[in-house]
Amino acid sequence: MKAAIITGINQISVETVPDPTCGENEVVVQVAASGICGTDLHILEGEFAPTLPIIPGHEFSGTIVEVGSKVSDYKVGQKVAVDPSLHCGYCFYCKRARGNLCENWGGIGISIPGGAAEFSAVPAKNLYLLPDEIDVRNASLIEPLSCAVRGYDVLPRMPGSHYLIYGSGTMGLMMMELARRNGAASVSMVDINEKRLETARTLGITKLATSADEFESERGWDVVIDCTGNEKAIQDAIPRTMPGGTFLQFGVANTHAKVEINPFWVYNKEITIAGSMAVLHSFERAGDLLAAGVLNPDVMISHRFGLDDFPKAVQMFKDGIGRKMTIEPGLK
Ligand SMILES: [Zn+2]
Ligand SMILES: [Zn+2]
Repeated sequence: MKAAIITGINQISVETVPDPTCGENEVVVQVAASGICGTDLHILEGEFAPTLPIIPGHEFSGTIVEVGSKVSDYKVGQKVAVDPSLHCGYCFYCKRARGNLCENWGGIGISIPGGAAEFSAVPAKNLYLLPDEIDVRNASLIEPLSCAVRGYDVLPRMPGSHYLIYGSGTMGLMMMELARRNGAASVSMVDINEKRLETARTLGITKLATSADEFESERGWDVVIDCTGNEKAIQDAIPRTMPGGTFLQFGVANTHAKVEINPFWVYNKEITIAGSMAVLHSFERAGDLLAAGVLNPDVMISHRFGLDDFPKAVQMFKDGIGRKMTIEPGLK
């Protein structure tokens, strides 16, 4: 089969490799679409993957073409999305139902071969069966949406809250859509890239700016969410949290990034600083939300590429062009 491979730091190629073999508790999925995200860039930069080379792609969906001998709940022809989470189930954190903090944490497309290929062998327990409402080519959105749902699991949900979101890329837009469904009184979005803000405008957001200074807000915001992972943005964002409010670190910063906080202010104003990491029991709910129309896939997915264009797609993503890009092996 054909697959995109990260062969070394900042090295990508598209090669022919052996087809995956189906383990007894696995299925083989013929990939319909596999999304590209910031995590792939981190892997490319040598920050995330335990070992290279790796077939990336942790946001994917497709059709089952082979079923392992011990799998009874799925059959060939079914359309599925794949939760990339590989939690061991027996470590300290798994036993506390915090599998996303697993001491033996891994991910499909991160620590084992992923979906940027024609086929991928995945554990049957990681499958989400697609309802009819979801087009299989759009189901690659479920994984990033499940990370956003996890973010809301750690946030207080108080109707009438004012939200401030940094970054209007795919994740910022998903956090925005979930804010509206959680009863936001207002959602304000900041992005230094004015072009990106246009999409938020299309989706009906009116409070948009290239700096949060442009907004009038006497007290700050109940919930401030960083979706950039950028040090400068995070430094700017944290102090805008309203007394009693919550700052959520959602964007993936570089591992050594640092920002300053004022501990007296955190104490005195009862500020909560929270983090949320990947997916935790949120994949099915994200699928159900996508089926319910929480996202407009035609707005979220800006570019669809064939496998051969994987390096080009990564470069465009790096350059900040577009929103979610998918690799669709069915496209030539
Ligand atoms: Zn991702
Ligand atoms: Zn574990």
